Amino acid sequence: MSYDIAVIPGDGIGIEVVDAVEPLLVDTAAAHGVDVSTTIFDWGSERYLDEGSMMPEDGLARLESFDAVFLGAVGHPDVPDHVTLRGLRLPITKGFNQHVCKRPSYLFEGVRSPLRNYEGGDIDFVVYRQNTEGEYADVGGREHRGFENEVAVQASVFTREATEAVVRPAFEAASERNGKLTNVTKSNAQAHGMVFWDDIVAEVSEDYPGVEVERLLVDAASMDLVRRPDEFDVIVASNLFGDVLTDLGGIISGSLGLAPSTNINPDRSSPSMFEPVHGSAFDIMGEGVANPLATVLSGALMFDHLGETAVATAIETAVAEQLADAAAPRTADIGGDATTVAVTDDLATRLVG
Ligand code: ATP
Repeated sequence: MSYDIAVIPGDGIGIEVVDAVEPLLVDTAAAHGVDVSTTIFDWGSERYLDEGSMMPEDGLARLESFDAVFLGAVGHPDVPDHVTLRGLRLPITKGFNQHVCKRPSYLFEGVRSPLRNYEGGDIDFVVYRQNTEGEYADVGGREHRGFENEVAVQASVFTREATEAVVRPAFEAASERNGKLTNVTKSNAQAHGMVFWDDIVAEVSEDYPGVEVERLLVDAASMDLVRRPDEFDVIVASNLFGDVLTDLGGIISGSLGLAPSTNINPDRSSPSMFEPVHGSAFDIMGEGVANPLATVLSGALMFDHLGETAVATAIETAVAEQLADAAAPRTADIGGDATTVAVTDDLATRLVG
């Protein structure tokens, strides 16, 4: 098979990790007889500072024909975060109906969790985050700027279609994994949108009698992800809650530098997008020390989505073996002193020879 992949390195360490990981993915695929050609798009904050927009007006039309989009990170100290987010990532996730943001959290053997008493394999859950609406809907406004009566309104939007679009695959995943789904909600305080969300979870659960459903308020879920992370299997959450909980999931699994992410269009009518959970991390940008493994693992999830499971499994196995190997290079975030490129070179030896 052959695939055309649109690659957007973006900003900060996104550029560094994508530079190192893109050839590794292409070469690994080729070693399995899979032909991948990539097209690089230099969209992001530098473009915004030069030309006034993160991507061209016809950006989505240019991406539409690709089999997938591979994104580094967006974010820049000189550009407000709401501009970078609303200028690139959100238009793509919303415009391509990428309703499902699936983010696994896995503590690999050889990686130390900041939580005591957890070892490789003990933390293993996946978050299904609603990715196109909820608290990230662009609905609201600001009036009377600078006056005493200044007011801002920000509305959350929950639709049946886009909620079901994430709840159903979460139940599917739970039935294929350990049969447990945790619905993270805040329906005590958000009595409209979140009660609607809970109703849909209850409705869909009737189609999955083998899945045990636990309901947790987001505050309790935050506590329990620290107190008993080993008991979680599949979590389904709104856009904002899923965003927050997956940073937590990343760090309790050792580092944000290990946490991969997907933005899936469930009916495959448009490309899906794959990216690490972490952002542009300007504090370490330019030093060549960013952990590339979150991006590598996002590549594995891309191949899995494309149906190239042998490539995906090879990459995941090589990452697991590298992390378990005390003599292998590792970056500073997980206790080593290796560079980004040393880590991907070592993986290339394992995967391509
Ligand atoms: P953004 O606002 O774009 O999300 P950020 O800099 O606020 O970016 P992250 O990029 O998510 O936040 O990073 C948070 C911290 O985690 C960084 O300061 C960095 O120290 C660390 N970090 C994130 N990703 C990596 C990585 N791949 N390798 C090493 N450290 C990382």
